[in-house]
Amino acid sequence: MLPTTPSPRPSDPGFATGTVTRREIEAREDAQLAPYAMRSQDSAGRVHDEPEHDYRTAYMRDRDRIIHASAFRKLEYKTQVFVNHEGDYYRTRLTHTMEVAQIARTAARALRLNEDLTESIALSHDLGHGPFGHKGEYVLQELMAEHGGFEHNEHGLRVVDHLELRYPRWRGLNLTYEVREAFARHSPRDLSAHGFPQGQQPLLEAQLVDVCDSLTYLAHDCDDGVTSGIVTTLDLCDVDLWRNHWQHVVRTEPELSHERKALLTVKRMIDHAVGDLVQSTWERITASGVTSPQAVRDQGGLLVGFSKDMHRMQRHLSHYLHEHFYCHPRLMKMGTKARRILMELFSAYQREPRMLDLVARAWVDEVGLERAICDRIASMSDREAQEEHARLFSPFERI
Ligand code: MG
Repeated sequence: MLPTTPSPRPSDPGFATGTVTRREIEAREDAQLAPYAMRSQDSAGRVHDEPEHDYRTAYMRDRDRIIHASAFRKLEYKTQVFVNHEGDYYRTRLTHTMEVAQIARTAARALRLNEDLTESIALSHDLGHGPFGHKGEYVLQELMAEHGGFEHNEHGLRVVDHLELRYPRWRGLNLTYEVREAFARHSPRDLSAHGFPQGQQPLLEAQLVDVCDSLTYLAHDCDDGVTSGIVTTLDLCDVDLWRNHWQHVVRTEPELSHERKALLTVKRMIDHAVGDLVQSTWERITASGVTSPQAVRDQGGLLVGFSKDMHRMQRHLSHYLHEHFYCHPRLMKMGTKARRILMELFSAYQREPRMLDLVARAWVDEVGLERAICDRIASMSDREAQEEHARLFSPFERI
């Protein structure tokens, strides 16, 4: 028999004096965070009651649950812009997510917002994406048009509330209201049936992740675009934000290789955008006079955002990348292949639901055939979808 003595916990008398308990971290939050930041001790809690942890706050625990989730690990093989097998250099959804979390944490700390909540929202923000990036999302939207639709934020909430199976007494990760709320507030669909009253703004931590998401992908897509050869550093000089930093780097670091000049330009763009975001957000928060997270929810609009000038430059960059990168023939070809794979998988399962794995087959009884197929396909990584397609449609592929 193995010894059954539980390991000592910080609440035990005499436990390693000097270690930090949850209550102490909560007290630090209370002392250090801005009045409009969300405090973990004020969380509206979890759907299923659980005792609090001894040395992790509610949001630290959410972050850990997200990192250990299957959907999080699968981000490694899900497309950001390039399908995973196109090359190891390019961002995947996992590395994109890590970059967003890093940038959002930095900005949250500068604004005295709750870093752990910000990190949890950032790490979970793309959990609702299926394989093959936005193209995959459009295909699932089309396939589900008659069956309740598909939207990645709403689906992210399904992943954390229902589809992750890790705990003995409930489905999902049982995350706090505030992390779940971030999905709901960024979804264009009405999620009041899930307990999120309509007409409220996201918390500042959630607003911050949203802006950091676009800031991050616009910057890293310049890097991936240049590395792939689809856009050149000269092409990008049509965009003010790129041109300003590129010219500065060329002037001040003429000896650097072309590749390193491009990397330095991306780094400067991120730094410039984050600095602008922190400064203009702080000005707007101050002007609004908000003194609590609820006051943030009750505002008529968003408080996190760029200055007018940076907003214009970000929009211009986004527009440029849509025109010249995301719609490039190489990416369009990948998108067309992705569409065919997902369409064929969906209809094959529809015709013969017994090909679904046993967990998905049991889920059909709960949510109906099309939703269960959609949940299964959305859970797949790019290569899982490609391999499953080969198993179903290539006559000589081993099952
Ligand atoms: Mg994202």
